[in-house]
Amino acid sequence: MATRYDAGVDHLAALLAGEPSYRVRQAWDGLYRRLLDPADMTDLPLALRQELDERLPLALTPAVESVSDGGDTVKWLWNLDDGASVETVLMHAPGRSTVCVSSQAGCAMGCGFCATGQAGFGRNLATGEIVEQVVRAARRARPRRLSNVVFMGMGEPLANYDRVWAAVRRLHDDLGLSARHLTISTVGIIPGIERLAGEELPVNLAVSLHAANDDLRNELVPINRRYPLEALVAACRRYLAATGRRLSFEWALIDATNDRPSDAAELAALARPLRAHVNLIPLNPTPGYATPGTPPAGVRAFRDRLRDLGVNVTVRQNRGTAIDAACGQLRATQSAPPQRARTVRVSPTRTESTSTSPAPTTPPGHTTERTNLPSTTAPGPTTGSPPDTARLASR
Ligand code: SAH
Ligand code: SF4
Repeated sequence: MATRYDAGVDHLAALLAGEPSYRVRQAWDGLYRRLLDPADMTDLPLALRQELDERLPLALTPAVESVSDGGDTVKWLWNLDDGASVETVLMHAPGRSTVCVSSQAGCAMGCGFCATGQAGFGRNLATGEIVEQVVRAARRARPRRLSNVVFMGMGEPLANYDRVWAAVRRLHDDLGLSARHLTISTVGIIPGIERLAGEELPVNLAVSLHAANDDLRNELVPINRRYPLEALVAACRRYLAATGRRLSFEWALIDATNDRPSDAAELAALARPLRAHVNLIPLNPTPGYATPGTPPAGVRAFRDRLRDLGVNVTVRQNRGTAIDAACGQLRATQSAPPQRARTVRVSPTRTESTSTSPAPTTPPGHTTERTNLPSTTAPGPTTGSPPDTARLASR
């Protein structure tokens, strides 16, 4: 059975065969413009609402919802119908609300420093599972309008190209999000970048670089062996020429690994000609990777060095709260689903749980973020920083 946000207009029309044709438009508007459950589409007859509710089930069952920063960050752990789990993070900032979505349960790319990579590949998400993450975040964001979507949650979006692109079209065509507010983050899958360059909708591209020479990048990002830097940079250049969009490079700063002056020089040489924006992310600890992140002073020094070399650079803000989670580092697939949804609120001074079920044990894949909280009942959050590459203030 198609899930609610997998179904296209044709599917909806087939479900509503025999009804006046305007019903299809009403239901579609209800789902995408008004973000309603069929049960709340009061412009439809009751029987029809019930039928749509039954025949278009939701794909995501909330397992845990965590709230922090006075409500400015919300993270969900969702259970999928086959037992897999994925996470979604909604972040509010002045003038913009961003959702970070997962594109796969797990990831096959094997980057050693990434918790999702450490957990391995589960499966591709369906288009409806991706779109629904955005719809549910958009609902939650109200009365604010969800403005940005970044594909920086679990998984490699360009390894699930068709479904991800179908989701992008839905977000643009039906939810009304502008292409300039959609960002796809990739580890550097060149055929995917080439395909993106040929699409009619020019979305922003973020490339997770982490190293600017092949030896180090082969080590940190194994897919570099298949898609080495020179070819990757050429693909980025073609992308920019074709779309005129922004390119950013993500760089997780790893202590004494990719934070040396020579790394800054190599990165600058690569980024400058592309006018790429560099986003530095101090590496967050994960269970399977021993090397720590670059300490704050080293992060600032690296940033300043890049600036001196003429690179446009920001440091991704780390809000330092217990749920400031972790697009890209999530490995929720292994978690045992709690029976019922649980809400956890976290503030720097207090942790308040509005659990309706016994507190779940920390999912095995999750690590506890460094935090200044007293002992917390938060559900073993993954570590990390907000994924919003969009103009986070540098420190
Ligand atoms: N697979 C895609 C998108 C998801 S990962 C990609 O790799 O781009 C989202 C971002 O989180 C990537 O930039 C990734 O390199 C980064 N990331 C992964 N693990 C991290 C960690 N432990 N600390 C900081 N950033 C991390
Ligand atoms: Fe996959 Fe991205 Fe993690 Fe690498 S960093 S393992 S590509 S999710």
